[in-house]
Amino acid sequence: MIHDIGYYDFHVHIGEKISGYDLSDNFADLQKLSEPTNDPANPPLLGIGAFVTEEAEYPLAQKLKDMEDKAKHELAIPVHWHLTPTKSKVDDIYELLKEGHDLKFYTTYRKEGLYKSYEDIASWMQNLSDLKTRILVHCEDELIIQGSQTHSFRTPFDHTFRRPEIAEDKAVGAILNLAVKYKHPVHIVHVSSPTSALMIKEAKRDFDGITCETAPHYLLYNEERLREPDAHRFLCTPPYRKESSRGLLVELFQDGIFDILASDHCAFDNSLKDRFKNDLEKIPMGIPGIDKLYSSIYQEFVKSSKISKESLDQMLRIKPRELMNFGGES
Ligand SMILES: [Zn+2]
Repeated sequence: MIHDIGYYDFHVHIGEKISGYDLSDNFADLQKLSEPTNDPANPPLLGIGAFVTEEAEYPLAQKLKDMEDKAKHELAIPVHWHLTPTKSKVDDIYELLKEGHDLKFYTTYRKEGLYKSYEDIASWMQNLSDLKTRILVHCEDELIIQGSQTHSFRTPFDHTFRRPEIAEDKAVGAILNLAVKYKHPVHIVHVSSPTSALMIKEAKRDFDGITCETAPHYLLYNEERLREPDAHRFLCTPPYRKESSRGLLVELFQDGIFDILASDHCAFDNSLKDRFKNDLEKIPMGIPGIDKLYSSIYQEFVKSSKISKESLDQMLRIKPRELMNFGGES
């Protein structure tokens, strides 16, 4: 089918648990976003990339099948899958990867059981040298993060000290080196640091299989948002960055450094967030965003001619559709 109006969201957490808590919405909740509209600022959602994280006693292949069934019943738009094996090795899921799914790895979250070392990721690349399965990477250096977590978490703003920009830069640098060395397709998710964005631009010259995304909240907000009332509800990882970084990120965004925009939609009920208002170390991280992915950028950057509508459509329709192999217009 040919779509020239609408957007895709490559990075959506939905229909599973994150850090032990149910996400607040499901595939059925996205259906209403896909209904046709005539509003150029708010076009329909055309498809998503969703995550399947391996759980103990629940094989990844089975969980993927269950989620595929659910999505098929509840949602009329296509879903592309990003798989996160936690225990499985390449051989365990090789057949699954032949179906064309992506992998998603984290260079942090050791406590949560998601962590993969740079060596682990290098070995996945070596073992997938034939399939060349694209690897999405959440880049924050676990050692730097662990060192930063000695800073106490008394207010939402403390999140910025506990997950500093330098942790992102360190991990992005390491992953880019691996991508270039093994010529392995890599997609860096939710880039929030301008230094990281510039490193990605450099690395793309050495290997054209590297892509990246940023999310609207890193372009629209700076860390001061974490001083607002109820800021615990806006906590996400990586945190919003300082104004100088946000400003530079916007300039790089205007220069077209990002292949796509994606929301990193990860919605929890406010009541759940509120439960941990005074126990921030335990608060589930993540914010909603899929419904505003197109409209927020349109309002802030297209209406004021800071970027063209064509480049927004490139980042939210043409390129994500290509990355997810959805076909359609050429
Ligand atoms: Zn995410």
